[in-house]
This record gives sequence, C-alpha cells and structure tokens, in this order.
Amino acid sequence: MKKGRYSLIEKGYITVIAGPCAIESESQLYAIAKIVKESGLSFLRGGAYKPRTSPYTFQGLETKGLKLLEKAGKEFGLKTVTEVTDADTVQRVADHVDILQIGTRNMSNFALLKKVAKAIHASDKKVILKRGWAATIKEWLLAVEYLTSGGEGAEVVLCERGIRTFEPYTRFTLDLSAVPVIKKLSKLPIIIDPSHATGQSDLVIPMSRAAIAVGADGLIVEVHNTPEKALCDGQQSLNKAQLEEMLKQVRFIANFFDKKIK
Ligand code: PEP
Ligand code: MN
Repeated sequence: MKKGRYSLIEKGYITVIAGPCAIESESQLYAIAKIVKESGLSFLRGGAYKPRTSPYTFQGLETKGLKLLEKAGKEFGLKTVTEVTDADTVQRVADHVDILQIGTRNMSNFALLKKVAKAIHASDKKVILKRGWAATIKEWLLAVEYLTSGGEGAEVVLCERGIRTFEPYTRFTLDLSAVPVIKKLSKLPIIIDPSHATGQSDLVIPMSRAAIAVGADGLIVEVHNTPEKALCDGQQSLNKAQLEEMLKQVRFIANFFDKKIK
C-alpha cells in the first residue's frame, strides 16, 4: 500500500481488517500484528477503550493502548483501527490512530457522531460506523449522515455486525441482506464483522465467505495469537491458521468478482 493518502476501500479489492478485540500488552499486540502482516493484510484493529456489557470485565488499556497501536502500526507498516467510545476522547483517538470505529452501542450517540465528524473534517482519517444491533437500515443511514453531511468527503464505511433477534444460538444474527439493500440505497461501502455477529470462531469462516459472496466490500475480524488466553472475545477470535484458511477461502470467492484481498 502506498504511503500518505490511501483508501480503506478500493476498487478491485476486498479489505480485510484483522486484530485483537482488545489490546492487552505490547507483546500480545506485536504477536498479532506480525500474524496480520504475514497474512498479507494492511489494516490492524485493536480496542483501547472497550465498551463491555459488564462493568466487571477488562475495560481496555485506554491511552496506553492507543500508543501501543500507533507504535505497532508504524513498525509493521499497517494502518490502524480502533473504537472511539465517547466524545471526550475523540481527538485523543484521532491523534494516534488512522481509522475511527463507532461501535454498535454508539451508533445513535449523536453527540459522539458530531464530534467525530468535526475531528475527521478535512483530514485523512476514516470512519467505520457499525450498525446498532437494534437499528433499522433507515436509522443507520440517517446516523451516517451525521458523519457525511459536512461535505468534506472523509471516507466513511458502514459495518454490519449482527442484529438482535429471538435466536440465542449465535451471539447476534448476521443480516447479510443488509449488503444488497445498502448497495441499493447508498453509495457507501459496507463491510461485515462475522466475529461479533456469530460469537463463535468456527462460524467466522463460513460467514466470511457468505459476506463476500453477497457483495460486501470487506471484513473486520478478530484475531488473537492465543485465543484461549484472550482477555476479551477469545471464543470468537481466529488464530493464525484459521485466519490463513479464512483468507484462502475468501480469496477464492473474491476471484469471482475479479477482486484481490488487501
Ligand atoms: C469491537 O469491534 O470490538 C466491538 C465492540 O464491536 P461491536 O461494537 O460491533 O460490538
Ligand atoms: Mn470484540
């Protein structure tokens, strides 16, 4: 990937963003960054502020995590993605990280969306807006306008990560029909998060295949060097071998569309 200006989503490519749910330590992040780099990918995800459902679980390394992510991104030549969870830390996140992710719990936090819109205004920062797990497609597309209506054209990408239904077997229900619907209603790219949608690593590969087959522009997946020891979402994280197998299978489907994986 070229230095300087770049696109998260590019014509002729499927973008795969990979990395841990949470940044736990320098050694953990570096081990995972190495896996991501060796897999031929260009984007490293990692949570520094973790919006956990339970207040008694690991909440993230916060500023220390942002600095580790910035350092790992530079050392491995990877663009970095992290979640921004509240309006007060938007600028701090933007100072250290290339791509700001707005999580499902914050899709309708309009004060946060407005702050992010300001921070990315006329900058080279990108934003990933996840769908609220109880949001309709129409609500999601209105939320995204808080980011895009400024007119400066910062790159914004939508992410379907599963919605709440009556089915408890999977963590959420991945709404793959959102992909062709978004393609019909909007010009924005859309990626799929099969990790949070399914909650189970063995379901990530088949749903990744399906996501690309249905026309998604990319994937964001959780990867860990030792998923069984992860402080957060280990059960849905791919290890190195699983990531490689997923990319092999997805590459096959991407070929159908004459697209490469980046
Ligand atoms: C995440 O990507 O780490 C995350 C918390 O995702 P979501 O907002 O989809 O739950
Ligand atoms: Mn997670």
